[in-house]
Amino acid sequence: MIRIKQVNKSFGSVRVLKDIDLEIPQSHVYALIGPSGAGKSTLIRSINALESIQGGEIIVDGISVHDRKTDINRLRSDIGFVFQSFNLYPHLTAVENVAIAPIQVKKVPKEQAEEKARALLASLGLGEKFGSYPAQLSGGQQQRVAIARALAMDPKVMLFDEPTSALDPEMIKEVLDAIRNLASTGMTMVVVTHEMGFAREICNQIVFMADGKIVEVASPEVFFTNPQTDRAKDFLSKVL
Ligand code: ADP
Ligand code: MG
Repeated sequence: MIRIKQVNKSFGSVRVLKDIDLEIPQSHVYALIGPSGAGKSTLIRSINALESIQGGEIIVDGISVHDRKTDINRLRSDIGFVFQSFNLYPHLTAVENVAIAPIQVKKVPKEQAEEKARALLASLGLGEKFGSYPAQLSGGQQQRVAIARALAMDPKVMLFDEPTSALDPEMIKEVLDAIRNLASTGMTMVVVTHEMGFAREICNQIVFMADGKIVEVASPEVFFTNPQTDRAKDFLSKVL
């Protein structure tokens, strides 16, 4: 579903992605983990063209992401992206936040888009919050609205960049549960996370990055019990 081939990226003279190769099959969930500054956000943002790349190619469901001929709006509606900061529209209710992109981008009739938005919000445990504004919701609730908003476009892939890092501890579980449920529906996902227990439990593969490179790709079982590199051992000794 996602093919990343020999991707390179620099900010000015600093190389932040170095010869990245990775293939993510349909319905698989990959965790991207590693120390701060490793290039995790830059890589995941490159997958839906929030970042340009300077070499190599990223292909999502057969579409070359950085090809000038690619319709970027079409591509982005196929790729849901959930950020650490929820970025909801403050002046729109939960339902309106979820329905707005299908209405504006896909020209779905308002009634139909809002009906689907209510169903998505209900499936994420937000059945009581349809008419609430973001400021009236907790961080965990806002993040679940953000997940519903991404799902409203019927994406083929979901990308999450530290979806629980801005949340108070008691709200982390409800968001991880939502992502876990999504995994069980067969959604292809890439999740940048510091939640090692979560990564171990739901991900098919762990991708460990450091210094702009992929250092190890392994099953959770192997990665967490028998990491192959000193870099990964050192990282795990600090986070586990
Ligand atoms: P991670 O998400 O793993 O913490 P990032 O992808 O955010 O890492 O950053 C990788 C490197 O790229 C870091 O050295 C960071 O300072 C640098 N970087 C990220 N975004 C920018 C930017 N917009 N301009 C310049 N440097 C950046
Ligand atoms: Mg990051």
